[in-house]
Amino acid sequence: MNIIILGPPGAGKGTQAQRIEAGKGLKQLSTGDMLRAAAAAGSPVGLKAKDIMARGELVPDDIVVGIISERVEDEDCAGGFILDGFPRNVRQAEALDVMLDDKGLQLDAVLELQIDDSILIDRIEKRAAETEGGPRADDNAEALKKRLDVYHAQTAPLIEYYAAKGKLRSVDGMAEMDEVSRQIMEVLNG
Ligand code: AMP
Repeated sequence: MNIIILGPPGAGKGTQAQRIEAGKGLKQLSTGDMLRAAAAAGSPVGLKAKDIMARGELVPDDIVVGIISERVEDEDCAGGFILDGFPRNVRQAEALDVMLDDKGLQLDAVLELQIDDSILIDRIEKRAAETEGGPRADDNAEALKKRLDVYHAQTAPLIEYYAAKGKLRSVDGMAEMDEVSRQIMEVLNG
């Protein structure tokens, strides 16, 4: 089973993706984690991505599409994967469709974590206060708000994109974390 987990920054995608990895044996592929690792390693891709990420903007599509295209071929993805943080706009989604088609793979579901902006802004401010100066350069209130704007402008249209394909499965991302996980498992097992 290959799935996408979709939702705004602060919705808990990473945590839920890890739980799905543990519960369903699907490999979590987080483009954000991969880009942060590349930046920490000082690779050419990482150097290019670093400042863009710190500002809360999107790195160029060809970079993330290339990373995912290579990564899904690795042996640990053979049992299925969860795309966490990819695709982030319609162009990436279209590239993913072509890529999966070329590789003879299919997309089974797109899990959307639904959550109100007001809750996200509270979380964003809390997270920024807790982590400012921490390991993530983009965890300051300004960059986090930018990431939320980018989500609405570029990523939210994917909800319609996947609904039109009959792939969208929405869960209440405002419930307690365990309840969100339960709903996700219900959707994936149903
Ligand atoms: P995340 O950990 O998913 O919140 O991603 C952190 C940052 O990495 C984002 O704000 C972007 O700058 C960059 N990033 C991650 N995934 C993508 C993607 N699919 N397309 C473009 N930029 C991305």
